[in-house]
Amino acid sequence: MKKEIALKVKSKFVNKYRNGYPLIMKEAILNLNDLNEEGAIVRLVDEQNRFIAKGYYGKQNKGYGWILSQKENDQFNQHFFDRKIQQAFKQREHYYNDPDTNAFRVFNGEGDGIGGLTIEYFNGYYLIQWYSKGIYQFRDLIINTLKNIAEYKAIYQKKRFDTKGKYIEDDDFVTGERGQFPIIVKENGVNFAVYLDESAMVGVFLDQRDVRRTIRDKYAKGKTVLNTFSYTGAFSVFAALGGAEKTTSVDLANRSLSKTIEQFSINQVDYEAQDIIVEDVFNYFKYAVRKQLSFDMVILDPPSFARSKKYVFSAEKDYKNLLKEAIAITKKNGVIVASTNSSSFGMGKFKGFIDTAFKEMGKKYKLLEEFSLPDDFRTIKEFPEGNYLKVVFIKALL
Ligand code: SAH
Repeated sequence: MKKEIALKVKSKFVNKYRNGYPLIMKEAILNLNDLNEEGAIVRLVDEQNRFIAKGYYGKQNKGYGWILSQKENDQFNQHFFDRKIQQAFKQREHYYNDPDTNAFRVFNGEGDGIGGLTIEYFNGYYLIQWYSKGIYQFRDLIINTLKNIAEYKAIYQKKRFDTKGKYIEDDDFVTGERGQFPIIVKENGVNFAVYLDESAMVGVFLDQRDVRRTIRDKYAKGKTVLNTFSYTGAFSVFAALGGAEKTTSVDLANRSLSKTIEQFSINQVDYEAQDIIVEDVFNYFKYAVRKQLSFDMVILDPPSFARSKKYVFSAEKDYKNLLKEAIAITKKNGVIVASTNSSSFGMGKFKGFIDTAFKEMGKKYKLLEEFSLPDDFRTIKEFPEGNYLKVVFIKALL
């Protein structure tokens, strides 16, 4: 059995952990120096050495590890991982039974009781993502669980912990029969080409499923749609399938051109009737203003942080200005879909950016609907930061 390290929690954080907060934070612990090897089992105790909770040490951008149990006698053995992962699978039963969708998340980190670990399902293939060296120490147990409870063609993995700023991608394959990539997966009847062997981004961000469907089913018909930070063009494909007059996808990564062509093509949409532009979004906005282009729908889905040749974008600092650029080229009564995956602010603040942006542009707006994570991206109320996705549909009035 592994040795357990006692971590003393500062008194002002004791209640937070007793109430189920799952992330071990640097500022909450008095004796961080006692930690050395990631994967060690840690027991959080108060200053009188009374037990609070236990978990593992694993460094992630977010913290120093995760609480796995509030029961002193719990052991993090095969039975423990079997139980957690089985529960998570059970909660996704309706996805497994959905004939139109075969790509979803089956295990969502702390939302399913084990921070630092996610598992996704892509039409017979599983992808495990390890977010720290610490959780990776439990790989044999976790992979065993998956082998025992899941039916699969193959299991792949990504080690998302940082080694010199790059993900280690040399041995993504774990077990089963290697896939021929891309594999084609389905989401609400729409195809996606997925590459589990490529990089941290496999071709689709599953957390936007409900937003894509909504754009297709309720908003796209007859509309001109500008999709910024478009990556593989997922929103454009759904808009086109929903009857958009035309879509324009803008992303500065060279790969986005071939990947977007591929997504349109595997859905029988003629990509030549769409615009796919490899360019910095911020240059494109200026170009559009100069050319007096305007759109019925503008989709904004930037990364939380991005650096391009000319611009640095941080969602927290710059989202308001991004909205202003979008407002300037949105038609009257058009719709802006504003999305952010930044966990550094919540929905309230995000709506504040929206309000300020419209005020500064001297325009009125109406909030139409909003989205957060879908239920396969399970979250817990004790960790609101885990519910990072915020998407707002806004009607630009005059
Ligand atoms: N909206 C996409 C996901 C976006 S991922 C989807 O639904 O699948 C973020 C993308 O933003 C990446 O593809 C990246 O290349 C692009 N990006 C980052 N900074 C950019 C910039 N300044 N201009 C254009 N694209 C940018």
